[in-house]
Amino acid sequence: MDIFKFGGASVKDAEGVKNLFNIINTRKENLIIVVSAMGKMTDALEAVCNAYFHRAGETAEALERVKAFHRGIVRELFGTGGNKVEKQVEDLLQTLEDMTKEEPSLSYDYEYDRLICFGELLSTTIVAAYLERQGRKAKWVDIRKCLITDANYRNAGVNLELSARMCRQAFTFQDTFMYVTQGFIAGTTTNQTTTLGREGSDYTAALLANLLDAEEVTIWKDVPGIMNADPKLFEDAEVIAKMSYKEAIELSNCGAKVIHPKTIKPLQNKGIPLFVRSFLYPESHGSVIRELDERLNLPPIFIDKGNQLLLTLTPRDFSFIAEEKLSGIFATLAKYRMRLNLMQTSAISFSFCIDLHEAVFRQFIEELHDEYEVLYNKNVRLLTIRHYTDDAIARMTEGKKILVEQRSRLTARFVAEE
Ligand code: ASP
Ligand code: MG
Repeated sequence: MDIFKFGGASVKDAEGVKNLFNIINTRKENLIIVVSAMGKMTDALEAVCNAYFHRAGETAEALERVKAFHRGIVRELFGTGGNKVEKQVEDLLQTLEDMTKEEPSLSYDYEYDRLICFGELLSTTIVAAYLERQGRKAKWVDIRKCLITDANYRNAGVNLELSARMCRQAFTFQDTFMYVTQGFIAGTTTNQTTTLGREGSDYTAALLANLLDAEEVTIWKDVPGIMNADPKLFEDAEVIAKMSYKEAIELSNCGAKVIHPKTIKPLQNKGIPLFVRSFLYPESHGSVIRELDERLNLPPIFIDKGNQLLLTLTPRDFSFIAEEKLSGIFATLAKYRMRLNLMQTSAISFSFCIDLHEAVFRQFIEELHDEYEVLYNKNVRLLTIRHYTDDAIARMTEGKKILVEQRSRLTARFVAEE
């Protein structure tokens, strides 16, 4: 059994759904198709959620965008005239609208998950109906009933044991050899909807593969595979045909956007290969991430991560930066759920780079302020070059003001001013 994951860009319009059908139509083996919300519908639903929760008064307009978008696609794919899918989509849209008429609870995260899930419920309903109409019936599964999580809304933790049991009951392949289900969303034991974090449907595909012992996972994307640089920035960017799980984890940890960071581990644990291929050129091979024995000669890989905050802390009492000081700083970072992307210590100062979260960073600095003099720089990027060469470094850092520099055997990293 294989798993195919189609992201929002692959089903952003009626053409995308037809293209999805063409890709799966050649398949003969058992298959689970994991689909995200269409196009930018998760963002559109976020707008609905914000308007609703903060009673901003624009809920109806925001909702209208979600409705018009899906109705347009249904019309293009199925025409008009009271077909079954039209009714299913209208029912979902009505349920969503009804929810926004209720008084919101006090928890934003809870409300977010129960509204945002409609993106995936709608996309999978439309995709399943289209496949059926084209003569390739796939069974629609509500993943919220089988991917079971805790109630940590918007970033739920998966209960692997329970999910394995429920998934094996749902995906039996007894009466069908193809399923369509939702990425990104999940559910609690008490039937509340949860989500796995933005861009989480890669992770869903990996989890299902792990729990159901799939042979392989393919993520269909709008890029030709895993590339050594952003082709928008470097026109000679090339596809990397294969890499190890370890390399993929390092890359996504450095900020490479191809795959969601949580995706690799469930696959690595079971030795399941992950293919990244282009839905625009489905005949080309793309990239594969798998266990590799041989040492690969990889080209330099360039990663440019923006939206960073560089901080330097110097103890006010002029004491050295020693272990107790560091453990206090780390505790504060953990408390604010800050992700440390790079750090450097000197005798009397500690510099580090974190993702910039406008909403919390002032409070974070406030907390450190009693003990440390805090300097920070908001307009910085974190540049990483894996498998660096002198030329590659020169190319990436040329003309930029470098504030921090760090090199290990395989990785060179720079904090550069914008
Ligand atoms: N639809 C969700 C998002 O846009 C999940 C995903 O696309 O992976 O974040
Ligand atoms: Mg998406």
